This record gives sequence, structure tokens and C-alpha cells, in this order.
Amino acid sequence: MPPGDFREWAHLSVDWVSDYLERVGEYPVLPDIAPGEVRDRLPPTAPEHGESVEEFLRDFESVVLPGITHWNHPAFFAYFAVSGSGPGIVGELLAAALNVNAMVWKSSPAATELEEVAVDWLRHFLGLPREFRGTINDTASTSTFSALAAARERCLPEAWRAGLAGAPPGRIYASAETHSSIAKSVHALGFGRNGLRIVATGPGRGMDPAALARAIEEDVAEGFRPVAVTATIGTTSTTAVDPVGSIAEVVRAHNIWLHVDAAYAGPAAALPEMQLHFAGWELADSIVVNPHKWLFTPVDCSVLYVRNSAELKAAFSLVPAYLETAEDEASHLMDHGLALGRRFRALKLWFVMRYFGAAGLRERLAHHLTLARRLAATVDAAEDWERWRPSPFSLVVLRYRPRGIAGEELDAMNMAIIDRVNRSGTAFLAHTEIDGEVWLRFAIGNIHTMEEHVDAAWTALRNAADPG
Ligand SMILES: *Cc1c(COP(=O)(O)O)cnc(C)c1O
Repeated sequence: MPPGDFREWAHLSVDWVSDYLERVGEYPVLPDIAPGEVRDRLPPTAPEHGESVEEFLRDFESVVLPGITHWNHPAFFAYFAVSGSGPGIVGELLAAALNVNAMVWKSSPAATELEEVAVDWLRHFLGLPREFRGTINDTASTSTFSALAAARERCLPEAWRAGLAGAPPGRIYASAETHSSIAKSVHALGFGRNGLRIVATGPGRGMDPAALARAIEEDVAEGFRPVAVTATIGTTSTTAVDPVGSIAEVVRAHNIWLHVDAAYAGPAAALPEMQLHFAGWELADSIVVNPHKWLFTPVDCSVLYVRNSAELKAAFSLVPAYLETAEDEASHLMDHGLALGRRFRALKLWFVMRYFGAAGLRERLAHHLTLARRLAATVDAAEDWERWRPSPFSLVVLRYRPRGIAGEELDAMNMAIIDRVNRSGTAFLAHTEIDGEVWLRFAIGNIHTMEEHVDAAWTALRNAADPG
């Protein structure tokens, strides 16, 4: 692309992005399309001869955009809401231009060292002790996979040479509320479906440490090798909190790896009034926090903190310590996970932290919590609605429950309510199942979400429940 053309189209694109961000609230949050519709509007093969930017940007607007779910919409309340903030988007743009691959220090010294600095700033922001070293991965799923691979090295050293066939069967413990990525990692790491043992939860859906201790003792007696416990602070379904401090005590007695999944809720640790939920997380061996969820950084950016990074390297480094050269005193990001090549993800995170500052980040997190508490109070006061408790972060779990209706009829009613709201395009909510019953998840976390958006979605829910 000739430089003049690049300048012209890049400027036009940035103008488009600016307009989009200003007007994103005017789009329907969820597109009104059927599966296959986007694909059917595109040719089956690439053009033989290059096309003009004008042509494909036109298709971007007319074919792609109508099929987009607008995650940057201030009324996006599904899953966990995210934000592609201005400084984060600019960081992505510059990272794309540099196009470095930070696999080893030499392949991009600044990308390697800025990653170390940015994740250490984040560590300090979260109040984690100094010994935690961070690495940026694409997603929490990848971060958890890496952590459990390190756990396998520690607890099943027999597997290092001959693989798991020559080792006792390993066990990883989690509650039924745990994210599906844990089960995926357990399976992918070769522990098999039996490698995951589900531990009972207490009334608030947090893991029961006494049940964990019993499970471990039973397993040891039966010849299993306990490998890791994954505790969650802010589960995906209801934002339940596992009691990490008590779990750490159980784990310590057996030298088991303790992994803490705080992919969504992690940033709240920066708020003094929320620190009680994080009690004991500093005792973990590894912690995952996703800045691309609740820290205004564009997808993808997940940080894995490990207390002893030598243990992570033991799982992934192919270079024996005796072969390391002077230059190897520098860190090589390829040693911290499965991927060799690494995007320069640190740049956007660094921009986000510099632009907002720690105080600005805390203020925005606190704002989301305030919005959630306000909505919770409104739901509690509303006749025929009820709320799931506890949900201590920025997620409100609620359902319509008119007198005399229960079971499948109640579930169908609630599914119909979010279906109506989601189809209207005014807001997007997801549902969850608790004890087999349908509940609606109202997840607040987009940087542009204000009172008016929450109020409008709540009104839409009420209208959908009572369309007469
Ligand atoms: C979202 C989420 C994950 C998975 O995150 P990805 O980055 O999409 O892999 C894992 N755990 C929890 C608690 C989550 O909320």
C-alpha cells in the first residue's frame, strides 16, 4: 500500500472509529440476523485481483457491521461486560503498526521489558506482594492452562520423562461453580475426565474447605496424587467467592498448587472496601486476572501471576539451565507458556494505566459497583422480582417471580423476558442456571455505562415481564 494511500485510509478509519465510539449506543446491542447470513453475503473465494479499500470498507459497513454484537455498547449487560477504551484502542493500533513478536528478549527487548513493567504496575495496583511475576496471555483459559501445567511439574515429577502413563493418577479440585476453562485444561493436560474432582460448596456457593480437605484425604488414601486446587474469586455464574485463605491452609499441608481464578473480579482488589473478598489470595501459587474484562483494556489481555516463575518455566522452557547464556539473564516470554510468538499486548495495558491513573481506574470500578448496588436495591424493592445473593461485585442476578408460578413455567417466563429484551436491541443480557433454575444476569462493566442505561434496561425487563 503506497504511503499516501495508507495515510488516507488510516485517517478515514480513525474517523470512522471515533464516530462509531460516539454513536455505539445507537446501534442495536444484538444483531437481528440468523446463522449463516453474513457468510452467505460473501464470495466463496478471495478475489483474484486486489480490490480498492473503498470497496471492502463499504462491505465492512454493509455486511460485517450489521452482524456485530456491540460489546462496546453501554447497554451490553451479558456475560461480563468489557470495554475497548480510547487509550486501549490507540495501544492496539500502535502495536499493530510495530508488529513485533516478543518470543525472546532479542526479538523485541522493549516489548518484553514493557510487559514486565506493565504487569508489575498492575500487581502493585491490585495490592499483590512483590514476589508475584506476571505474564500476559490471550485469555484466562490459556493462563489457567499454563498454571496447571506448572502444577503438574511440581506435583507429578514422574511425568517429566515418561509422561502421565508412568505416574500416579493426578487430581485437580474445583467447585461446580468453576469456569469451564478449568475442566478443559484438566483434560488437555492429560489428567482425563477423572482428573477433575468437584468439591461441595457452602450456602453462598463458595467452596467448602472442610469438604476439600476430606476429598484430598480420600484421594491420597486411594492412590491419587493431588496436583492443584483452583479457587475462584467471582465465579462466572453468580460471582461467588471461594474462601481462599481457608483453602490455602488445606493446600499447604499437602504442597498442592493453589490457582486463583479472578479473571473478572480481580481488578476490584484495588478498592479498599472490596479487599475482604480477596483475603488470602496472596497465598496462591498463581492468580489470573483479565484486564480485558473489567479493566478497560481491549480483548485480548489476560495476566497470569505466578509466585515462583521458575516453576512456570519448568513446564515450558526447553532450554536447560546449564545452556543459558549471558543474554539469557534477560527473560524470554516464550518460556512462560505454550506460545512461541507473542503479540505486544503490554502496550495497550500500559496506555490504559497511564491514561486513567490508579485513581481513575478505581473511580470507574467503584462507579460500576455503585450502579450494581443501586440496581440491586431497586430489584429488592420491586414486587414480583427477586435477586440472587450473594453477588458482591458488579453483577446483579435476578428473576421475575410472580406469585404462584414456579418450575418450568417460571423458567420459560424468564427466558421469554430476556428474549424480548435482547431482540428489541435496547440491551443484551444473558441467563444462568442455579440449581437447575433460570436466572437473569445483569453484568455491569462497560466504561460508558451510566445510570440511564441501567434504568432503561430495567424498565425494558419490567415491560417484557408484563407486556400488557
Ligand atoms: C471469563 C472467565 C474465564 C474465561 O476467560 P477467557 O479469558 O475468555 O478464557 C475464566 N474464569 C472466570 C471466572 C471468568 O469469568
